[in-house]
Amino acid sequence: MPFLDLDGVNTPLRGDLDVAWKSVLGHGHFVGGPEVAAFEADFARYCGSGHCVGVANGTDALELILTALGIGAGDEVIVPANTFVATAEAVCTVGARPRFVDVRPDTLLVDADAVADAIGPRTAAVVAVHLYGQMVDIDRLAEVTGRHGVALIEDAAQAHGARFAGRRAGSVGVAAAFSFYPGKNLGAFGDGGAVVSDDAALAARVRLLANHGRSVTDRHVHEASGRNSRLDSLQAAVLGIKLPGLDDDNVRRRRAMERYREHLPADCVPVAQHPLAESVHHLGVVRVPDRAAATTALDAHGVGWGIHYPVPCHLQPAFADFATSACPVAEDAAGTILSLPMYPTLEIDRVDRVCAVLGEREHACR
Ligand SMILES: *Cc1c(COP(=O)(O)O)cnc(C)c1O
Repeated sequence: MPFLDLDGVNTPLRGDLDVAWKSVLGHGHFVGGPEVAAFEADFARYCGSGHCVGVANGTDALELILTALGIGAGDEVIVPANTFVATAEAVCTVGARPRFVDVRPDTLLVDADAVADAIGPRTAAVVAVHLYGQMVDIDRLAEVTGRHGVALIEDAAQAHGARFAGRRAGSVGVAAAFSFYPGKNLGAFGDGGAVVSDDAALAARVRLLANHGRSVTDRHVHEASGRNSRLDSLQAAVLGIKLPGLDDDNVRRRRAMERYREHLPADCVPVAQHPLAESVHHLGVVRVPDRAAATTALDAHGVGWGIHYPVPCHLQPAFADFATSACPVAEDAAGTILSLPMYPTLEIDRVDRVCAVLGEREHACR
């Protein structure tokens, strides 16, 4: 049983995809074609935000947001210790310093109190990472960033369609970064990403920077030294075809997660959900004290699994210079978290099988 299987999502779309390939091949605008503008409009609307700029990947989306906000050398950006390295990488790439803070023991998402303690004179922004598909408690975090006047940026790479208190990921920060890496909840057939923002000027700045700083009125004038980071027409066409099915896919993930919650043995505890959060379950993460026994049992039965992430960012060699304080919750979690198979077409009987394999292990250990 695979950890992730996207055939069930992609195969029914083959007819529509064939039409899209032919259409892009026909008009020949492989970069900046009409599919890009159409998807950008659809995705902005989906997120409940005013603007979407397609970019090359999620890491670029984060970098472009930071650069467009004027964040760079001399600035500090607060990021959770428990996230994919890209969040911190983007901060380093723009020349700022990541300041790692600990996560909450229940949700493993960034702790608003730890953020409040870490804010200092050099803090320019806080990146709220909606990890595993669950949005950060945005009310508490926005209260902290608002009080201190620092920008709140969303890393929504794992949270397409997630909600907190009814508001969608991508609609609560000054800007949000999305990734369309194939394994994400909304995945392209290669790399892709987007910046979503309600701030028209900020979105325009991101668009300019992502396209070599090129003026929108005169293509031979470059207003800023930017870069090349664009979503191409084929990927935009794929995403435009997949977007209408995203909510349904997310419901199916939620059903699988509910089944896990009901049938897992007592010592495999799913990461807690905030009562106001509607997670899209990008990953099915549980905490299990004896992880080695669990993974041995899963391996023996051919069940795929993952760990997200085994080494917290502040303990990665790449960020050794920025490991200014311990993050005990993230460090403890790194040793006990386990990601179980999770994808929209994961059948209930497969979930039951994973639960049974883990249950037998518990039995065998006693
Ligand atoms: C995937 C991911 C990214 C980076 O996205 P890419 O498209 O792979 O560059 C950033 N942050 C988080 C939390 C992610 O999961």
